Amino acid sequence: MNRRRRIYEGKAKILYEGPEPGTLIQHFKDDATAFNNQKHEVIDGKGVLNNRISEYIFTNLNNLGIPTHFVRRLNMREQLIREVDVIPIELVVRNVAAGSLTKRLGVEEGTQLPRSIIEFYYKNDELGDPLVSEEHITAFGWATPQELDDMMAMGIRINDFLSGLFMGVGIRLVDFKIELGRLIEGDMMRIVLADEISPDSCRLWDTKTNDKMDKDRFRQNMGGMVEAYQEVARRLGILIENDRPAGSGPVLVK
Ligand code: UDP
Repeated sequence: MNRRRRIYEGKAKILYEGPEPGTLIQHFKDDATAFNNQKHEVIDGKGVLNNRISEYIFTNLNNLGIPTHFVRRLNMREQLIREVDVIPIELVVRNVAAGSLTKRLGVEEGTQLPRSIIEFYYKNDELGDPLVSEEHITAFGWATPQELDDMMAMGIRINDFLSGLFMGVGIRLVDFKIELGRLIEGDMMRIVLADEISPDSCRLWDTKTNDKMDKDRFRQNMGGMVEAYQEVARRLGILIENDRPAGSGPVLVK
């Protein structure tokens, strides 16, 4: 298994060569990092949970006709994905003020935004992933205007789907980050969702208590990160429990 060629190792994931050309294996590690790698810890079990949660979300998005790189989950920590040319932009969709938005604009955390806001960050660790505008993206050729339109449309659709999904299980989707890539199929090229969607890349607050159920527990040294991720998985109905078989559907929270 370790004979496979490693294509790329990031902070929380490793990409290995896949079984066929055009495929890769995405491996979820237990590593958690924040503040551009200044804070780093290994959180036992996080990778397994993110693999399952991301599988669940990507499978649903595929079924809704929102194309993703996800093919299927292979084991506890790995999934088979299609190889894409990753666009060097992180697209953030926000519904409620939190994180960098509160710091940058002085808006109080928890303020409901008048409408969903899309932001772009240039993926560059040396520069600390700076906020950029559509103008920067097209001027520097990171994505074409047509690609940007597709990316924004996908961001909105994914936000609508995720907001509803989480609302149904008593969770408020505050914000999330996605990465997109170009998938070449014959002489066609289209934008697909890549990377992962998990509590590492979303802000998720319990609707009733406002408890944080995401990576802010790690960023803010709150503890209970794995327990929170487990609770997200449990509510989505994807955690293997003795009394509830996996895949028995979401748990409605009244
Ligand atoms: N995010 C992420 N990776 C990053 C930066 C942000 O997944 O490198 C997610 C983050 O978890 C949150 C959303 O994107 O759900 C918005 O993050 P924000 O800009 O507020 O940055 P932060 O406060 O995390 O630095």
